[in-house]
Order: sequence, then structure tokens, then C-alpha cells
Amino acid sequence: MDPTRKPSQLYRSKWACFHCRTAFVRYIRVEQSDQIRCLTCHTKATDMGYLFEPPRRSDYKQWRLMQLLAQHQLRYHRSGMIPKIRYLITENDKASYTEVQRNLMALYDDDQQLKKKEKREH
Ligand SMILES: [Zn+2]
Repeated sequence: MDPTRKPSQLYRSKWACFHCRTAFVRYIRVEQSDQIRCLTCHTKATDMGYLFEPPRRSDYKQWRLMQLLAQHQLRYHRSGMIPKIRYLITENDKASYTEVQRNLMALYDDDQQLKKKEKREH
């Protein structure tokens, strides 16, 4: 769930099913966002953000990477996320799965450092 949204706010987003590698758009209320299921297989779907561009269904590698992003709470909710993910994490789709994992870890470390720094300055 996107923590910046207010309860009961209606929003649209794109949900991904990592089981059948599909995505669909739904309008929902914030509190429903953990209950959305795939229209085809009824597996719990993941909110990937409205700007999410689903990979081709046959592109297993990309889908695995998208799942990895989701596990790290990265979503395509804002246009700024697209270049961030492309340049810092997937390296223009050239990075391997292991490299993406490494980039995610590095990014996470940076965030932790930044939070610590912000705390010290307040
Ligand atoms: Zn499904």
C-alpha cells in the first residue's frame, strides 16, 4: 500500500499478478489495496503503480525482476520512479537478476544513511 495516500481515497492503479504474468487497472479505495486478486487465477495481486508497464507475458526474466522490485516496495506510482528504476536498478534492462539485487541493496543502504543523516540534523 502507498503510505502517502489517505484512507478511503479512491485511486487507480495497475495490479500485477506474478503467477500468470498479467496486469490490470482497477479503481479502488486505499484500504482495499491488500485484497485485490488476479481476475484470471485469483492469486493475490500486487499494486505496481499506475505507470507500471507490464513486460511481455513470455518475458520471465523481466517478470522476476518486477517481483523483486515489488518485494522491495518499489512501485511505479510517480513518473520520477521510472528513470530511478531504469538507471539505478535495472541499468536500462541490462542488469542481471543478481546485479539488480545488488543495486537494490545499495539503494536501501543509501536510504538508511540518508535517514540517519536527516535524524542527526533535526
Ligand atoms: Zn493470475
